Amino acid sequence: MPQFDYDLVVIGAGSGGVRAARVAAGYGAKVAVAEEFRVGGTCVIRGCVPKKLYVLAGRFRDDFEDAAGFGWRVGKPQFDWPALVAAKEQEITRLSELYAQNLTKAGVEIIPARAALAGPNAVRFADGRRVSARVILVAMGAAPVLSPQIPGIELAISSNEIFDLPVFPRRLLIVGGGYIAVEFASIFTRLGARVHMSMRAEHPLRGFDEDLRRRLHTALESDGVDMRTGVLPTRIEKTANGLDVTFQDGSHLEVDQALASTGRRPSTQGLGLEAIGVALRENGAVIVDARSRSSVESIYAVGDVTDRVNLTPVAIREGHAFADTAFGGKPTAVDHDNVPTAVFTTPELGTVGLTEDEAKAKFARLDIYDTSFRPLRATLSKRAETVFMKIVVDAASDRVLGVHIFGEAAAEMAQLAAIPLRMGARKSDFDAAMALHPTIAEELVTMGAPTRRCEGAA
Ligand code: NDP
Repeated sequence: MPQFDYDLVVIGAGSGGVRAARVAAGYGAKVAVAEEFRVGGTCVIRGCVPKKLYVLAGRFRDDFEDAAGFGWRVGKPQFDWPALVAAKEQEITRLSELYAQNLTKAGVEIIPARAALAGPNAVRFADGRRVSARVILVAMGAAPVLSPQIPGIELAISSNEIFDLPVFPRRLLIVGGGYIAVEFASIFTRLGARVHMSMRAEHPLRGFDEDLRRRLHTALESDGVDMRTGVLPTRIEKTANGLDVTFQDGSHLEVDQALASTGRRPSTQGLGLEAIGVALRENGAVIVDARSRSSVESIYAVGDVTDRVNLTPVAIREGHAFADTAFGGKPTAVDHDNVPTAVFTTPELGTVGLTEDEAKAKFARLDIYDTSFRPLRATLSKRAETVFMKIVVDAASDRVLGVHIFGEAAAEMAQLAAIPLRMGARKSDFDAAMALHPTIAEELVTMGAPTRRCEGAA
């Protein structure tokens, strides 16, 4: 048996890499993790966690306004951007240190350097040091892509920079209509910015259920977001007061910042993967089998770098399954079906399972149950807000295929709905569950007859 410096070297200390390293170390493996930035990865440092903190910051605007309907007299609220940035920084520093401590406690060595592959069992660090490893895990995540390729796109920022802008952007253009675009539109409009969105589609969030997409579009608009759909910028130029943006329809806009949120690309450039025969997709994603093994036997990859389902909990699950497979003697594949997901706009979206269109492609007949109602809070606050819920059911078997929610607490409900969906629950199981009153979630178990029945293609 050849001797290696390490049983496992993980490249990238994000959600997937950290979980894999800790679990592998728990199985007795000698593990090192290389990280050139901060331990925690995108989710902790410049993704989910700081984003959700900013979402919560934005929601206070609504709370101050709504409080009046409940008898409170609140003075004129003032928002302090640098105070939010500083508080966020403190929290993510705490989390990052906690992640690092947990790695160290588990016996994992942290190597604070950029790493690249020097062979199927060799890793080279930025300082020239080279180590050998029986197994290498690529967990580098993904990075923002600035699109479209127009003159001046380099003047735009990405989600990496927006969290720490030294000056609050009073006028903000957001290009793209995906998760990141709509979340930041919702955050910044609440914090007091004039937000413009520019996207090529008719509605944001391609791939989500159409009923949710349309409702989010309307909600963003009524929140004051200028929705420029079907039109993209063609040029961005610096001016004395900010940026001048020209659009395909010839219109102009002056803004303080332009955020390009047009997708992310797996961070495999310069890693040396192709040179040692690791097969990559055209977008740079590492091609892996169900157990996250690449085309080279000793090299595995998990998380966004594989571009499967690009969500933190999925990366964590993949990291854990990898460690079970490679070091725990328990070959484990991750099931990527029925992964719940949420978009933290206000109101938010929570969804699990098939959209109506996806279900139509796979089933012959569908029963669609939906409901739209005013949450209790909106009665006294007089906020024009509704909750929309939709359950997609296979008419032949009564099996619930998808649950889609737009409104207060949608993310929390989607998480819980993921359990019966995984268990193969039928609509009659939902109906048999007793309602809990007064809640928003009770509507999920009290939708009586289908709103409509539709034919699918299968
Ligand atoms: P998304 O893939 O969600 O959206 C990309 C957006 O950019 C789409 O609207 C797409 O348009 C548009 N786009 C892509 N290329 C171009 C182009 N060349 N010109 C113009 N528009 C373009 O990416 P995000 O960057 O928003 O987020 C990346 C990933 O991060 C997400 O897919 C998700 O997995 C994860 N994420 C998850 C969050 C959560 O769980 N709450 C929050 C944030 C991110 P079109 O639809 O027309 O293709």
